[in-house]
Amino acid sequence: MDATDGAAHWTPDDLRRYGHAAVEWAARYLETLEARPVTSEVEPGWVRDQLPPSPPEAPEAFEDLLADLDRVVTPALSHWQHPGWFAYFPTGASGPSVLADLISSTLGVQGMLWSTSPAVTELETHVLDWMAELLGLPERFRSTAAGGGVIQDSASSATLCALVAARWRAAGDGPFDRLRVYTSGQAHSSVEKAVRVAGLHPDQLRLVDVDDAFAARPEHLAELMAADAAAGLVPTLVVANLGTTSSTALDPVGAMADVAAEHGAWLHVDGAHAGAHLLLPELRWIADGLDRADSFCMNPHKRLLTNFDCDCFWVADRQPLVAALSVLPEYLRNAATESGAVIDYRDWQIPLGRRFRALKLWFVIRSYGAEGLRRHVRHQTALAQDLAARIAAHPRLELSAPHPLDLVCFHHVDGDEASEALLTRLNATGRVFLTHTRLDGRFVLRVAVGTQATEARHVDALWALIDELA
Ligand code: PLP
Repeated sequence: MDATDGAAHWTPDDLRRYGHAAVEWAARYLETLEARPVTSEVEPGWVRDQLPPSPPEAPEAFEDLLADLDRVVTPALSHWQHPGWFAYFPTGASGPSVLADLISSTLGVQGMLWSTSPAVTELETHVLDWMAELLGLPERFRSTAAGGGVIQDSASSATLCALVAARWRAAGDGPFDRLRVYTSGQAHSSVEKAVRVAGLHPDQLRLVDVDDAFAARPEHLAELMAADAAAGLVPTLVVANLGTTSSTALDPVGAMADVAAEHGAWLHVDGAHAGAHLLLPELRWIADGLDRADSFCMNPHKRLLTNFDCDCFWVADRQPLVAALSVLPEYLRNAATESGAVIDYRDWQIPLGRRFRALKLWFVIRSYGAEGLRRHVRHQTALAQDLAARIAAHPRLELSAPHPLDLVCFHHVDGDEASEALLTRLNATGRVFLTHTRLDGRFVLRVAVGTQATEARHVDALWALIDELA
């Protein structure tokens, strides 16, 4: 310990010693994960009951902190990296990403301006261009054209930024009451939240009908927009869902782009989860028409082995985004910004401060290589397809929706009660964890394949349980 200013700062040697212990703890956690129940069984308040009511007055030993992870924390965790985790959508993690985050924390830099750490900005721009290439995104999203990419904390923030940019393009500083936003009733709740946060009334959001596959009907979008335009309102933003949260339904991006273009509205494509599948050339058809979108986002922190938080957000034209979000106080003025030759990412997001998040994406891409990332997504998508085929052939189960990617939705033929009971029984085994949704009013079980540890044998084990308990 180094106590030059009276505080017990760690020396680099302390960091080395305790860092080894922390990494050892992390490796042991992963080694023992499969043997643990997937979710926690603690009662509300249990965690707080384990903790002292007041903070410690004197410094505590690091060993005691690690010991409390086992005593207080892990018993009360849902183990998102467990190979039996099939709930929600997976949250990405991998060794290279974890260590890059450790280094990012060690550096402790803020990348709000290019000048506050050029490497943070330039690495981010470069890695987002790499991602655009890996996903086969249109040229217009590259930083070398009028657009470019940025890392947001989440897809929710990407949608909010798209709305704020579209709002600016449609109405500058306001008023905003005539602006209208469109998305399907299957869209993620973050679209409605963005509408509220951006200061629009909830009625300014129009819900587009969906077809039998739960994808937006472009004819209905066209009707809604035409009626609004005829009433003197301003169609401002269309959010197309590239993989809805409930069932990975795929909105027809091209047809929606045509309708949006007729009214000069901004088209944002939300590929939070499913966007990672664009890595696979054989699946690029899912985003036909993306070359006419104004913005697109996908989350490496869901399907691409990168720890939360990491959402990649691209715009075809950075000008409206920067115009909407740039506020330059005196204390941030600097020569590089004034030169106009650099990107200041604080103008591409809501907060000012920003972590060095590109580091983990850079580590992941380089450690796996494009080939390794494709193999990961392709393999687990094939596992989901295999599971879907088994469900389709089962006498007491039915598929509830198309399953183009890595998510399978199904229900029991005996109805909602039987489906709900099946979910409860599956989760009660402690070996797997699934969640549910409602499609067409029906209770539906969801199986999302995709943690770093999930292999064929885990999906086989899940199937054995489903078959036994259905
Ligand atoms: N959009 C879709 C389609 C999603 O599935 C999700 C989350 O599952 C989100 C947005 C929100 O993602 P985030 O947690 O990154 O805000």
